[in-house]
Parts: sequence; C-alpha cells; structure tokens
Amino acid sequence: MEVKTLNEIDLSKNPVIAQMGINNHEQILFCNDNATGLKAIIAVHNTVLGPSLGGTRFWNYNNEMEALTDVLRLSRGMTYKSSVAGINLGGGKAVIMGDPKKIKNEALLRRFGKFVNSLGGKYITAEDVAMTSRDMEIIKMETDYVSGLPENMGGSGDPSPVTAYGVYVSMKASAKETWGSDSLSGKKILVQGIGHVGEVLVSHLTKDGAIVFINDISEERLKEVSTKYKAEVVSADTMFDLDIDIYAPCALGATVNEVTLSKLKCKIICGAANNQLADEKIHGELVTKKGILYAPDFVVNAGGIINVYYELEGYNRERALAHAEQIYTTTFNLFQLAKKEGIPTYMAANRLGEQRIEAIARINAVL
Ligand code: NAD
Repeated sequence: MEVKTLNEIDLSKNPVIAQMGINNHEQILFCNDNATGLKAIIAVHNTVLGPSLGGTRFWNYNNEMEALTDVLRLSRGMTYKSSVAGINLGGGKAVIMGDPKKIKNEALLRRFGKFVNSLGGKYITAEDVAMTSRDMEIIKMETDYVSGLPENMGGSGDPSPVTAYGVYVSMKASAKETWGSDSLSGKKILVQGIGHVGEVLVSHLTKDGAIVFINDISEERLKEVSTKYKAEVVSADTMFDLDIDIYAPCALGATVNEVTLSKLKCKIICGAANNQLADEKIHGELVTKKGILYAPDFVVNAGGIINVYYELEGYNRERALAHAEQIYTTTFNLFQLAKKEGIPTYMAANRLGEQRIEAIARINAVL
C-alpha cells in the first residue's frame, strides 16, 4: 500500500487526523451538546510519562480549524513542559469555543466536566484563559479529573509564587552562564507585567539587590509595586531602549520579535510569559545571533505545572518549591547542551523534553 508523507497530504481535505499526525497526537475528543451550546475539543498529545494535563481555554475562535490548531499546539507544549520539569505528566489541553461572557454557565461547564470524565483520567483539566477557580469547582461536580482547585477545596491554590520562584532560580542559572556568578546583585532587570507572578519575582530580585525596572498597563499595579519594592516605573515607549542586563517578560507572549530584538541591549531574556518568541524558529535563532541568552519560557515557568502536580499527589507547598528549585539545574544543563550541540536554547529545551520521553518509553516497555 502506498503511504503518503505528511507533505503530500492536503490538510484542507484531511484537516483532523492528518494534522494529528504532524506531531503524533494520541487522541482528540470532539464535544458537542446542543442543549447547553457546548462545543469543545480536548486534545491528548502524549501520555508516555503519565496522564495528560493542561488547562481549558474558553475562547471565541473564528472557526473550528483555528480552535483545532490551537488545542493541538498547546497540548504538545504541555508534553514538553512537564517532561523537562521532570514530573510524571503527559501533555493535554482543552478549548471551549464561544464567547465566555455570553455562553459560560453552570450547565455548560458541568456538561464539559462529563466529557472530561469520559476520558477516564487520560486528561486532567485546569484553569486557563477565561476560566476561574470557581469554574473548576463547577467542573469538579462531574469529574475528579480537575486540578488547580482553591485551597479551601483541598487544592493547591494560586501557583504564582511557585512559578515566580522558578523564574528567579532560572534567572540565576542564566546569570551564572553569562557572567560566571549567579548573583543578581546590581544587575539591571526589566520586569514587564507585574501581576501575580511579576510582583513575587520583583520581591525576590529586590531582596537580592538587583536594580529593578517595571512596566505594566495598570497604573494602579505600578503605583503599588513601585512603592512596595522601590522599583522604577518605565513606559512602554522607552523600556526596550533601556540599558539593562536582563529582560523578564511576565505579561504577554510574542514580545521577543524583530522590533524588540532590534532594540534590546540585554544579555539575558528570562521570564514567566508563555510563547515569548513570536516565531520559535526565527526568533529563537535571531536571539542567539544577537548574543542574548534566551532561557526557554516553558522551562522557566514550569513552577505552575509543578505546583499542580503536587496537588495530585496530596499538596505540600514545600515539596512544590523544592522541585521548582531544580529549574536552576535544568536551565543550566540545557545551556550546556545548546553549546555542545551548537543549537539555539529553545531547540536544546525541546531535545531535553524528547530525550526524557524516549527514555521512559523504553522503561515502560519492560515488563
Ligand atoms: P496576571 O494576569 O496576574 O498578570 C499579568 C500582568 O501583565 C497584569 O498586571 C497586566 O496588567 C499586565 N499586562 C497585560 N498586558 C500588558 C502589556 N501589554 N504590557 C505590560 N503589562 C501588561 O498573570 P500572571 O499569572 O502573573 O502570569 C503572567 C504570565 O506568566 C502570563 O503570560 C501567564 O500565561 C504566564 N504564566 C503564569 C503562571 C502562573 O503560575 N500564574 C504559570 C505559567 C505561565
């Protein structure tokens, strides 16, 4: 029988299983319920290391293909994040299509919970864009496969302090690689986005004697954080022209792009935001060419998934923080791998993720 390669397959005529084949996704569950208006997709990318875990995103996609592409991309990202973080979880993600302001209600969320439950634990859900911990409580009425619950429900609560600690130790590992010492004292650091993660990061950095600049779209946050930690407020127009050592994106994705890279004078990029590189390949290479050390986002911000993992095991914040501390070594090791192989750091991070999955798959094959 003639087997076609993916390049030969017309995705417009084979939009689903062929697209799953590109990154070897295991399973997709398409969910529909006319009564509640629920239309969702749950993607399980890889379960070699454990059950797939990833948040549910509620988003008004333009069409089904956009939603499918997003859920496939995000679920794969979760596989790599958990693998590199050294936890026993696979990668999964869910998207609910529609305007949450118009259609989100108890019945729809509980119907979604039933679909999650139907996968029998192969997928565990959590919060993501436009989902709250209250929504997780509602989903929990229909399934136990929910994580990231509030503390008063036996959950792990806000993961941000653990995420921020992971970013902080990753930054120290990046400093060690760049300057030979992991001290951040006297380093000029720009933190863009001083929300849940950004603020805790600022507190670690100022405690260490770093000179911190902050930027946010919220005037209120800027006032509060600058007063509390003596950080200098900088405007969006000028922040990328600053003479800084480290840029920490902690707000949005895609801030590492042609425009910012043409201005940035820093030696390190290390922050909490997801998908910092506007285009992984193009900007992952450009950043290296510019002599900037990029600490890959999904390695740096793994504290969040680590925190949720310990919720599944019976939560203990000390254990979660101790695990997040290992992000220092992981970050440092991936820089060594990138140097040894002569590859950009984002690629080294992907390689580390793949190596662990392959190694554990071999062990799983032994009776
Ligand atoms: P948050 O919503 O609490 O904070 C984000 C902050 O960024 C807010 O203060 C907001 O006003 C600001 N912001 C938004 N747009 C901005 C812009 N254009 N310029 C400057 N500031 C802007 O979010 P968070 O929980 O602190 O997470 C920060 C980032 O880290 C997000 O990208 C998130 O996806 C990622 N992340 C968070 C966690 C976690 O544990 N919270 C885990 C992994 C990744």
